[in-house]
Amino acid sequence: MPTVQDLARVLERAAPLAYQESYDNAGLQCGDPQMEVRGVLIALDCTPAVVDEAVRRGCNVVVAHHPLIFKPLKRLTGANEVEQTLLKAIRHEVALYAAHTNLDNVRHGVNRKLADKLGLTNLRILDPKPGLLAKLITYVPLAHTEAVLQALYRAGAGQVGDYSGCSFRTEGTGTFTPGAGTDPFIGRQDKPETVREERVEVLLPLHLQHTALRALRQAHPYEEVAYEIIRLENTTQDVGAGMIGDLPEALSPREFRQRLKQALGVPVVKHTEFEGPIKKVAVCGGAGSFLIGKARAAGADAYVTGDLKYHEYFASEGRLLLCDVGHFESEQFTGEIFRDLLMGNFGSTFALLIAETLTNPVRYDF
Ligand SMILES: [Zn+2]
Repeated sequence: MPTVQDLARVLERAAPLAYQESYDNAGLQCGDPQMEVRGVLIALDCTPAVVDEAVRRGCNVVVAHHPLIFKPLKRLTGANEVEQTLLKAIRHEVALYAAHTNLDNVRHGVNRKLADKLGLTNLRILDPKPGLLAKLITYVPLAHTEAVLQALYRAGAGQVGDYSGCSFRTEGTGTFTPGAGTDPFIGRQDKPETVREERVEVLLPLHLQHTALRALRQAHPYEEVAYEIIRLENTTQDVGAGMIGDLPEALSPREFRQRLKQALGVPVVKHTEFEGPIKKVAVCGGAGSFLIGKARAAGADAYVTGDLKYHEYFASEGRLLLCDVGHFESEQFTGEIFRDLLMGNFGSTFALLIAETLTNPVRYDF
């Protein structure tokens, strides 16, 4: 039976914890990583009712989008709903796991799901993150290049967008003199050596550098492996906030709002005035006011998000249709991402259920 740790590993391969925002607290929130998974209940939020549902339906793990523990706890006495949920989970041995802004920031995460539901194509990340990439350069004797590269690819290097196995190789001459106490793969102690080598370059997500270096040392035949890791200024199209894409055909603002209501099942859309046709659409699940400027700069005709405050609507300046569909509503399909990921990796080894408990605290009264 897979353990909670196995489950976390799968989720974190898709949404690495290193990609969460600094204020966030994604990951395993409570529970024994070694516990075997009997069933997983998927929800957007973790509340006492969700833990009750998990217990009732035979699940011992809750996977949620929003972390239950967001601010550090100084005591655990059940004084508020967060603590009550946590106590209940501990009492029933239910593990709680959250993938939050790390799942927002990946290419196949929350915003991709929202964009897909709206039928957007030509998708790209609206605000790609800088500082997440490195270049790994190493020098390999000719006959061993392929083995070293394969090991690096398995460790997560050489991925550019949807292309895998990306590298650059140049042939040259390596020189070295093995010192006293060495056990050289090629050459002898104190004898200068010249070897035909390849300089191999691969892109590497920074958070995988330790994994990649371990793989490099294992696959490389030399006792001392020469390598360089260079941090890059490049942004990566794979990681960042929001998403932007095109509608299949231009819609009037009214038609677009109609599509929003239909696709998201929302009764109401709060929006600004905008005259023009809607073709290019930016989206950000959750509270997305921080991307209004980016959406405008990217030429979006509409920007769909949640949790906008009164003064933030002014930032549209009549230049785009700003739509607030509700925080929960914009993220309501996130469970499908968890379900597909876990189903794809674990099949039916354990029950995988979407919560029936409605955790949205907001109601509409017409
Ligand atoms: Zn959210």
